[in-house]
Amino acid sequence: MSPTATLRTRIVGHDRLVPLLDGTEAPYLNLDNAASTPALRDVMDAVERFLPWYSSVHRGTGFKSRLSTEAYDRAHRVVGGFVGADPDRHAVVFGKNTTEAVNKLSYRLGLDPEQVVISTQLEHHSNDLPWRRCARVVHVRALPDGRLDEADFDRQLARHGAQVALVAVAGASNVSGFVQPIHRLARKAHAAGARILVDAAQLAPHRRVDMLADDHPEHLDFVVLSAHKMYAPFGTGALIGPKALFLETPPEYRGGGTVDAVTLDDVIWAGMPDREEAGSPNVIGAVAMAAAAHALMEIGMDAVAEHENELVVHGLERLARVPGLTVYGETDPARARDKVGVIPFNVGQVPHALVGAILGYEGGIGVRHGCFCAHPYVVHLLRLSEADAAAWRAQVARGDHSNMPGMVRASFGCYNTIEDVDRLAEMLERVARGEYQGRYHQRTSGEYVPDDADERFDEYFAVPEPSWLRPGPGPRACGG
Ligand code: PMP
Repeated sequence: MSPTATLRTRIVGHDRLVPLLDGTEAPYLNLDNAASTPALRDVMDAVERFLPWYSSVHRGTGFKSRLSTEAYDRAHRVVGGFVGADPDRHAVVFGKNTTEAVNKLSYRLGLDPEQVVISTQLEHHSNDLPWRRCARVVHVRALPDGRLDEADFDRQLARHGAQVALVAVAGASNVSGFVQPIHRLARKAHAAGARILVDAAQLAPHRRVDMLADDHPEHLDFVVLSAHKMYAPFGTGALIGPKALFLETPPEYRGGGTVDAVTLDDVIWAGMPDREEAGSPNVIGAVAMAAAAHALMEIGMDAVAEHENELVVHGLERLARVPGLTVYGETDPARARDKVGVIPFNVGQVPHALVGAILGYEGGIGVRHGCFCAHPYVVHLLRLSEADAAAWRAQVARGDHSNMPGMVRASFGCYNTIEDVDRLAEMLERVARGEYQGRYHQRTSGEYVPDDADERFDEYFAVPEPSWLRPGPGPRACGG
């Protein structure tokens, strides 16, 4: 049996029913894995087994502290191993997520504003905006079909020559799913004397990532990733890069945990990774991330990639039969291997936000719609004119999001099945035929909601809350 065949039952909450607009319930179908994946049971089990042993790390002397310190240190090793890092040369720095990791690197590289960072039009804002703060960012163009224009990459690299300090590219796009030729780009970056950062937030849950040995011309200098996209939503991400580079300068965040010794006017900074992980770390998150990395390695990233390829092939074939549906980026199932399991689309003239709402309220299907934190790329894929894009931005600046351009995105995880794809397609056929029942209205936030929406979340889950804090019908009487 294929290692992915039983994955569904290893997903926490895979059997949860959610309410539909007609008053019935249906099993939730999560097709929003590119935003965040549910937890693997392996991860939850590791967290549950660890919690009774959890205690302060690094400075505690008790047994639980010593055990927790070992667990935290080992989590660094496992996550490094997941991306082929060299334990002697590379440091794994834990933080909140990919966004924080890229920002951290942007502070730590010490670029001067005249230096160039070559990024691309395909990037998530998290691998673009941090660089705009500290360097001249050059965006390599996307081709009309959404692929990277590698000839433009070559041109930009040649044009900016020795000024290029860094190439910052996504391993895979969160909009089109296109996988970038990261090792080929690495070879070119190194030949030009630059380093390369791969934003692997969208790649690592779907394909094997290998930083390669340092003396390999195609090695990756830095990799960043988020645990909540790889089945471990416990608030951790990682930045992996050369220890020596971090040791050259003091950390940007300073305080407890980052030092070996402090006098009133001097500091001896700690070694790696401690100096880069200011304050008390998220030990549970690190254990969870390591458990996810271990589970994915045990399932086998090649098996994951193979299974997800079948989903994409089937998805492209099946969605092509939905009347009026346009898929953006790759549409040819024969070239499905060029992308991870992300399919962006629109259904005729139905607003993307309305499609998302109908799928959620009437189909029990979770997707995402809009611009996916990649506005320039979505504008490109939609082929919007500069005038239309400017008009939309002006409207947004006035606080009105009702005309946001965008798409709907279905994104697969390793546990999704062919039946899931069919369920999505059948629901989209209903949308295309106008066979949905709700009457929806749009909020200025851009979202559509059914006129008679009655969200009874508390019947499913509620954060424990004292009764006096709950919003009541009128002003609360003051006690005493
Ligand atoms: N890069 C890519 C390619 C992403 O898909 C995302 C999340 N959608 C991010 C960066 C940011 O990740 P996070 O929100 O976990 O910081």
